[in-house]
Amino acid sequence: MISVAVDAPIAATLDYSWTGPPLLHGTWVWVPLGRRDVLGMVVDWKLMGVDQVLAGDRGPPLAPEKIKPIKAVVSELPAADPAWIAMMAFAARYYRRPLGTIVAGLVPKWLRDPRNFAIKPSGSNFERLWRSLESPSKKVSKSDRRIQESEHTLNPDQSKALAAMDAPGVVVLHGVTGSGKTRVYTEAARRTISSDPSAQVLVMVPEIGLTPQLVARFAQALEGVEIAVLHSEVSERERARLWLSASTGKARLVIGTRLSVMTPMPRLSLIMVDEEHDHSYKQQEGMRYSARDLAVWRAQHLGATLVLGSATPSTETWAQIKRNKYSVVSLPRRATGEPAAPIELIDTLKDPAKEGLSEKSRQAIAQVLADGGQALVFLNRRGYAPVLSCPSCGWSSRCGDCGVATVLHRPERTASSDRASAGPWRLQCHHCGIGSTVPRQCPDCGDTDLSPIGRGVQRLEDTLAAVFPQARILRIDRDTVRQGKALAVEIEKIQRHEVDIVVGTQMLAKGHDFARMRLVVVADADTQLINPDFRAPERLFATLIQVAGRAGRHEQSGVPARVLIQTRYPQHRLYTYLLQQDVAGFAQAELADRESAHLPPFSHMAAVRAAHRDEAHARKLLRSLRDDLQQFAAQQNWPISAYGPVARYPEMQAGRWRGQIVLESGSRPLLHQLLSVAEDWMAGRRELDWHVDVDPVEV
Ligand code: ADP
Ligand code: ZN
Ligand code: ZN
Repeated sequence: MISVAVDAPIAATLDYSWTGPPLLHGTWVWVPLGRRDVLGMVVDWKLMGVDQVLAGDRGPPLAPEKIKPIKAVVSELPAADPAWIAMMAFAARYYRRPLGTIVAGLVPKWLRDPRNFAIKPSGSNFERLWRSLESPSKKVSKSDRRIQESEHTLNPDQSKALAAMDAPGVVVLHGVTGSGKTRVYTEAARRTISSDPSAQVLVMVPEIGLTPQLVARFAQALEGVEIAVLHSEVSERERARLWLSASTGKARLVIGTRLSVMTPMPRLSLIMVDEEHDHSYKQQEGMRYSARDLAVWRAQHLGATLVLGSATPSTETWAQIKRNKYSVVSLPRRATGEPAAPIELIDTLKDPAKEGLSEKSRQAIAQVLADGGQALVFLNRRGYAPVLSCPSCGWSSRCGDCGVATVLHRPERTASSDRASAGPWRLQCHHCGIGSTVPRQCPDCGDTDLSPIGRGVQRLEDTLAAVFPQARILRIDRDTVRQGKALAVEIEKIQRHEVDIVVGTQMLAKGHDFARMRLVVVADADTQLINPDFRAPERLFATLIQVAGRAGRHEQSGVPARVLIQTRYPQHRLYTYLLQQDVAGFAQAELADRESAHLPPFSHMAAVRAAHRDEAHARKLLRSLRDDLQQFAAQQNWPISAYGPVARYPEMQAGRWRGQIVLESGSRPLLHQLLSVAEDWMAGRRELDWHVDVDPVEV
């Protein structure tokens, strides 16, 4: 009997029979599942040191006559390497998903399609498959490079940081924006690859589209080295080729987003996670894994070096530094030698933000324009206005499915005629994406005077255009820019100084280098400041540090760059640290709060979530699950608390109410044991759509 991991949500492995020569752990096979043949991987549970297979790890025992034979060994695919399987097994257990769904489910679709192989018991080999996938020119060509400058020699801080990466272990690279972290990454990769002829390096980034220059910088530093870039726009065929290239060790460097942490890389010896604090490393559906945390596990299991880079390391990471689990090196200065631009607050109770901009902000923008510099105005809110409302009866626009306010969007102006409109104004739900037309009159009282409330970037763009009619204004957000390529084009416009004022969202905050950006204005961050999520301050702080870092990166004029933040809460603790640009101090204050409130990383959390059309029914089941778990934990004397149920945000999605209970404990093993109890309980209540999120980032 052979255990095979297949992409089916039933169990970790299913049993199949086999009469041929022994099959090694990690061998890929074709097996029948229902009426189809699917790709599976042979699992030797003993070899993985798993003596006691948990409930759910294996499918229900089958009568011997029901066990089907393995169809064939996939001789084209090299067997999976044991360290990779071990990571997948850890991820499956930790994040509570059947092993097969991730082991087989993460193999590129093209490689899971038997039609791309000849199914026969023996014969064809890897080379043939490889040749069928190879495409002539997939390397980053010289013309693709957007690098003018040559790579600098490391400065003393950078050299020190690099030296800290010699030993295995986790190294936090805490470097202010513009301190030359990327330069350290490229050098570390180059060194690792050139000192060991087979070593592989994995570089993880939050979003490839947002860092168009990054890939080119690695390509330049690693002439002649095969680089696999994994992102969402890669074709299925190409994805298959890159996967094989990485899993056979051909690709020496893999650059990718969160999913790339699970790329098979048999000779992996260095992992670097850029912007390690970024929440996009946490997958929010299916297996809800944290790619950063898996990278830590993987590096430790391999005895490899892991670099966690950030200008604002996460509170969890600071806690590990404090416990001496991670070491830390810092790049406290900008590599270009420019001082960080000072941050100033504008109290909007005293200097009101008329049409979104206070007097002081307007003057500062005017000054920069007069000096021939560029200004960036930041507002993290898409659209024209966050809600459309009726002044006579209080009606406001809402999404029927999600129950949240729908956002008013004005038509985009076409490039050819600036004021010409393309299409009508629309209301759009930012959760489900559904759009609708704007009603002519209030659906409740018939008043025709509906008015937009609040301000999004489109409206701010209009204000800027009215106040600075001579300025060339460019707006950048998800509505004007859709792909990485398009963003790169806009960024180049800014770099070529074809633009005076840039107005935009979060998209602008990340790693771009704008030489003439002398002023950053944050129009409104207050809603994020008062968000009840315990991670909201940390997130906002990171965003503001990042945005502020866009100013004055290469000062030539001698006029110091400025960062202005408009807020109604200038006394907030977050701003006290922000004004000092005291990242470590802010983190220590957050840590102290978390510790006294017994929040992560001083406790561990898991959310059990459910969705159902009937809110009352879902709440009832969540409550009784909470009570049963609480009672069970009390009987066992386990220190675990269960909270909730509470509604999630948004409460409704696709017509179903969504809620959760949260389990919290100082002991991870006990928390996981209680999750097993919860899963058995949920298995008996299939009418609700359940899932578990271990270490949720939003609660
Ligand atoms: P980060 O990734 O920390 O934001 P980068 O690596 O992008 O920083 O570097 C910021 C700027 O400093 C870039 O323009 C880069 O070319 C420059 N730079 C990096 N290292 C050096 C160095 N050793 N000497 C001079 N300039 C450097
Ligand atoms: Zn009305
Ligand atoms: Zn919606």
